[in-house]
Amino acid sequence: MPGVTRVAILGGGPGGYEAALVAAQLGGEVTVVDSDGLGGSAVLTDCVPSKTLVATAEVMTETGAAAELGVVVGEATDPETVVHARLDLVNARVKALAEAQSRDIASRLDREGVRVLRGTGRLVPDDRVAVDLADGGHEELATDVTLVATGARPRELPDALPDGERILTWTQVYDLAELPGRLVVVGSGVTGAEFASAYDALGSDVVLVSSRDRVLPGEDADAAHVLEEVFARRGLSVLSRSRAASVARKDDGVLVTLEDGRTVEGTHCLLAVGSVPNTEDIGLEECGVRLGRGGFVEVDRVSRTTARGIYAAGDCTGVNMLASVAAMQGRIAMWHSLGDAVAPLDQKAVAANVFTSPEIATVGWSQAAVDAGEIEARTVKLPLATNARAKMQGIHDGFVKLFCRPGTGIVVGGVVVAPRASELIHPISLAVDGRLTVDQVAHAFTVYPSLSGSVAEAARQLHRVD
Ligand SMILES: Cc1cc2nc3c(=O)[nH]c(=O)nc-3n(C[C@H](O)[C@H](O)[C@H](O)COP(=O)(O)OP(=O)(O)OC[C@H]3O[C@@H](n4cnc5c(N)ncnc54)[C@H](O)[C@@H]3O)c2cc1C
Repeated sequence: MPGVTRVAILGGGPGGYEAALVAAQLGGEVTVVDSDGLGGSAVLTDCVPSKTLVATAEVMTETGAAAELGVVVGEATDPETVVHARLDLVNARVKALAEAQSRDIASRLDREGVRVLRGTGRLVPDDRVAVDLADGGHEELATDVTLVATGARPRELPDALPDGERILTWTQVYDLAELPGRLVVVGSGVTGAEFASAYDALGSDVVLVSSRDRVLPGEDADAAHVLEEVFARRGLSVLSRSRAASVARKDDGVLVTLEDGRTVEGTHCLLAVGSVPNTEDIGLEECGVRLGRGGFVEVDRVSRTTARGIYAAGDCTGVNMLASVAAMQGRIAMWHSLGDAVAPLDQKAVAANVFTSPEIATVGWSQAAVDAGEIEARTVKLPLATNARAKMQGIHDGFVKLFCRPGTGIVVGGVVVAPRASELIHPISLAVDGRLTVDQVAHAFTVYPSLSGSVAEAARQLHRVD
């Protein structure tokens, strides 16, 4: 390609900054325009802060279960000795960690020679990007390749507007000085379930309002069932088939009114009702970029939009809204546009995790797809309660599930429900990606005793003798 390729990237989240690193590595002249801080919502308000909060919640859950393992943790009647989470300290740690992570990303981009402009960018016809700089200036960039990675923000309900004090989006909870006495979480998707689980473990009384008949409607039904049982045992109440119509401030709390007229009172309400893409007023349609349902940018599997030279990655595309997928879409866009070897995004290889207690990790084809006949597969589900390590660690809930093709035994998917399932899914992810057979998975050594032994055991049970 003659001359240096000029690459402009709108948005400094994982979709944007990971793309910038690849583009710089491939010799591009790269500028990232970012309005809210490098790392994007992933690092500053969404993924990193929530998982840092969950890390504290995990300690609380483990401490709560310590008695079974013979550990005495203070007297419940003595507030001085009983274990409790100080939300002011927890939130200070969350914010400091997020800012440090953002600074690390800034240093890395600087080291790789990526130019970063703090401001708001917009596409302009004829391959240009206009930037309103945060310090008041204005700059226009001529580009050969443009990547839109502007992310998404929490969806708001007109009759439940967040006030940042008691009616909160997930970006606002880290300003709370004290643990909510009674938290009503509206929305039982991944975000709602994770926060409900975390605040319950931290010590809040939690009510989860779910418009569907179960929590996590998009996840494996057996996994969601385990989580519902654990929630019930812990006293976390789930109101299923209950759609919130409005949320209002009331004295020292909130009043959530459901569509059927019932009401739920709480001290705080967390709204987790989905995301809307940041795709308005940034010149997309004027430059030929087609937006689809809900305003998400339409992209193909190599991140191309409908406009030549303009790519899009991450939450603004609505494709499997995960930081890992955003980063991969961004990298793919750069490999493709800068002429490197590239394989299209394979959504069936994406490993994902719900950071509840227990965690729910999945990869590959799902049970729902198998049941619907989209793929023929044999299945085995092993409860963890039979695993020796699980017994030693006091783990009673959870399972390992594997799916393999009937003839070849090639592993096509799996589900793990366990503490740290996010770590246990990796062998299954390797198997799916490498098209390993159940016999290959079963023959590899696992440590005894270990939870991963159940992955090998599940594979062994799928060995076909006929
Ligand atoms: C509560 C929560 C927890 C999550 N946990 C996980 C998790 O555990 N694991 C996981 O993989 N994913 C998780 N996610 C999803 C993950 O956060 C997103 O998928 C990820 O942030 C998407 O990255 P992105 O680069 O597309 O956008 P973002 O991270 O949103 O970054 C986009 C950036 O672009 C900026 N921007 C917007 N418009 C402009 C403009 N015009 N000009 C310049 N800059 C602009 C934005 O301010 C933002 O900084 C979670 C999401 C939520 C809500």
